[in-house]
Amino acid sequence: MDICLWGLGGHIVLPEDPGYNQARQDYNRAIQQYPLIINYCRNKEDVAKAVNWARRYRIPLRIRSGGHNYEGYSNGSSTLVVDVSEMNSVSLDEERGLLTLEGGVTNRQVYEFVSARGYPFPGGTCPTVGVSGYVTGGGWGLSCRYLGLGCDSLEEIELVNGEGRLIKASRRRNAELFWACRGAGGGNFGVIVSMVFRLPPKTDNVTLIEIDYLHATAAGQEIFLATWQQWLKDADPRITLIARIYNSANDGLAMLVRGVFYGEADEAKVLMEPFTRLEGAECSFQYVPFLEAVTIIGSNYPDSEKFQSVSRFVVRSFNQREITELVKLIGSPPPGSLFAGLSMYALGGKVREIGTDQTAFFYRQADYIIWLETIWEENRFAGVNRSWINRRFPALASVTTGSYVNFPYSRLANYLEEYYGDHAALLKEIKKEYDPCNIFTFPQGLKSRGPKQAKAAVLTGSETEEAKKKPADDRAYRRFRYVKNHADSGRQDFLK
Ligand SMILES: Cc1cc2nc3c(=O)[nH]c(=O)nc-3n(C[C@H](O)[C@H](O)[C@H](O)COP(=O)(O)OP(=O)(O)OC[C@H]3O[C@@H](n4cnc5c(N)ncnc54)[C@H](O)[C@@H]3O)c2cc1C
Repeated sequence: MDICLWGLGGHIVLPEDPGYNQARQDYNRAIQQYPLIINYCRNKEDVAKAVNWARRYRIPLRIRSGGHNYEGYSNGSSTLVVDVSEMNSVSLDEERGLLTLEGGVTNRQVYEFVSARGYPFPGGTCPTVGVSGYVTGGGWGLSCRYLGLGCDSLEEIELVNGEGRLIKASRRRNAELFWACRGAGGGNFGVIVSMVFRLPPKTDNVTLIEIDYLHATAAGQEIFLATWQQWLKDADPRITLIARIYNSANDGLAMLVRGVFYGEADEAKVLMEPFTRLEGAECSFQYVPFLEAVTIIGSNYPDSEKFQSVSRFVVRSFNQREITELVKLIGSPPPGSLFAGLSMYALGGKVREIGTDQTAFFYRQADYIIWLETIWEENRFAGVNRSWINRRFPALASVTTGSYVNFPYSRLANYLEEYYGDHAALLKEIKKEYDPCNIFTFPQGLKSRGPKQAKAAVLTGSETEEAKKKPADDRAYRRFRYVKNHADSGRQDFLK
């Protein structure tokens, strides 16, 4: 092992390693980044070593679990990526009603574990999303109107902080940190190595709702949007839906609804009548085990995509003119787009019952999240697809408020205010208290210091001794320059 890697544990992937080009990829392949080192940690000790190492050598650090951040913020060129995806043990204490997950557990892993014991879980739709990334941003899922956001079931988290120390946060201990980690997004305060959730009540079957409307028209999409917002006003909290209007290379103009109802299919059909009577509706209501429902939903996701998107919160009904303008947003997709869509994620129900200030998730009172997206395949269309989103953003922003931190957009001007609303000021204070040396950074992260100060991180006594023993800096930086060159050639490979 090269001297510059001294102090790291776990499994290390370097640019010259055969697995590097795969290991550096995240879900959104439109973003290509070239980390210096990818460190797959196997336990808390490895994570602590990685944090200490990054601080000692003053190397920017990123935290990665499922690698699904839309803007690639769990990764970065010239960084140490602390990857916790191999830390995925799950355990259950049924007597106390508690579920403990290690920091790298995915939605699929938790669903499979809990449903084998008769429980649902308020996780997300994509099976390979990491629970720690999902839950720290709030965590919208197809159970949220019934069970709350993912973060609402959290009881305790354990993190490795910027000093490489383990700390716990709950309502009783480090309560501000616990508050912040329920809605302020991952990557800001430390590396979550485990999470304890309160179990929801046992559930046998749920009704999986799937409705498709192919060969639609813009007028049909307008009616669909009007139906959606009317339906949501007094929707049964046992149902959570995602609704989408889209324009795709395969289907042309179309719409779909997907949802989970905690009740039987006959009742779901009655509750969904406003949607089932719309022209062209092809409906399926299946009363199936919870695991089957989330597996069917999850099977819609490919292993990776190239996309750009932006999210907003909707806090009021749109008038007819606004609906027409929203439908127009996807009327003419950019060149190379295979899919351009506007998706709506229902909030309300249990999400709204919790007070706005009880967790860092600010937009508790919103009706739904709206999300504009375009997907392409060929790299040459990346620029035109990105500017397509950017050009549409002002129109979308003019009728909506704030953005969902789990669906980030790198071009937001005041991103802290957009993601956290009135909670931004308090979050900045909590960042200063729990990460004063700004060890945990990424482009849209909370910052406790300017970049210059962050580089001058102070070493603790024992680390200074260690550092003195090793002529690490010089060799480390030489190696990193080499890494950068290597990365450049990697980029050319990718663009071929
Ligand atoms: C296909 C797809 C479907 C999705 N569906 C949903 C959905 O239904 N509902 C929803 O709410 N969101 C959804 N998301 C968004 C997703 O929840 C967020 O992107 C989430 O942050 C991803 O977590 P991750 O661990 O997979 O990603 P990563 O990219 O690994 O991490 C995301 C962020 O969390 C930080 N982070 C990761 N692990 C840790 C840790 N252990 N400790 C501290 N910080 C950490 C990272 O640094 C980064 O800032 C979806 C995303 C995709 C790509």
